[in-house]
Amino acid sequence: MPELPEVEALVIFLRSKLVGRVVARVDVASISVLKTYDPPVTSLPGLAIVGVVRRGKFIDIDIDGLHLVTHLARAGWLRWKETLSATPLKPGKGPISLRVHLDDGSGFDLTEAGTQKKLAVYVVRSPQDVPGIVRLGPDPLSDEFDEFALRSLLEAHGRSQLKGLLRDQSVIAGVGNAYSDEILHVAKLSPFKVAGSLDDESIRRLYDAMVETLRGAIERAAGLPASELKDDKRTAMRVHGRKGQQCPECGDVVREVSFADSSLQYCATCQTGGKPLADRRLSRLLK
Ligand SMILES: [Zn+2]
Repeated sequence: MPELPEVEALVIFLRSKLVGRVVARVDVASISVLKTYDPPVTSLPGLAIVGVVRRGKFIDIDIDGLHLVTHLARAGWLRWKETLSATPLKPGKGPISLRVHLDDGSGFDLTEAGTQKKLAVYVVRSPQDVPGIVRLGPDPLSDEFDEFALRSLLEAHGRSQLKGLLRDQSVIAGVGNAYSDEILHVAKLSPFKVAGSLDDESIRRLYDAMVETLRGAIERAAGLPASELKDDKRTAMRVHGRKGQQCPECGDVVREVSFADSSLQYCATCQTGGKPLADRRLSRLLK
């Protein structure tokens, strides 16, 4: 799933391609991706694109005051084409859910692989009309988000475990399963550590790790074409998705805790004082 750095890189790329162009046509192949009906998609052709911004993991394309907003979710992606086929899409066939044609013949497809069908597209008058955007917490790369802002979030959610807290979009916008593993590894903190128990030094480490990890990932991703962003994300990870491999810091083996629908990876030597965390799913089975 694309998280803040990949979405930011996509937004930078799209901004260079889209701003100043006029929407020529929007083809909807999968009606279920459209979460809104007023204003209709048919109100977009003829309007000029004036901006592209990221809001958490959402991409917000400002089309002369209307907003085409998308959330790529787990299996969604955006494919840019310098030349798009003018042939209408066949509804329900293939991975393309929605296609936006621009006035110079270029455009992009929003695609979804697999059967999850979580890709979401909204056409709204204000980005605040998208429920997932209204709920977003502060952006960790915004100027206002400093160490004190992080401290007050940790205090406000004192009983939450760090892993869940970092992934919660209403607490911090844009961090998901992959980068929360990476941030906690850099900060040398256990994913199950309780937010309210962090001392000043740990809060500083967590803040620095968050900013450093996300900025580093954006820098790496920014020069890449959209099609290569996903692969780059995978290869650049320190512990996420690397169960059984060596920790790049200490050489210990990267361990995993599995949950019903996800898993986390960490290094016991770096993060939990050498003590492996209990695999909750396994320990429940063994009871
Ligand atoms: Zn380690």
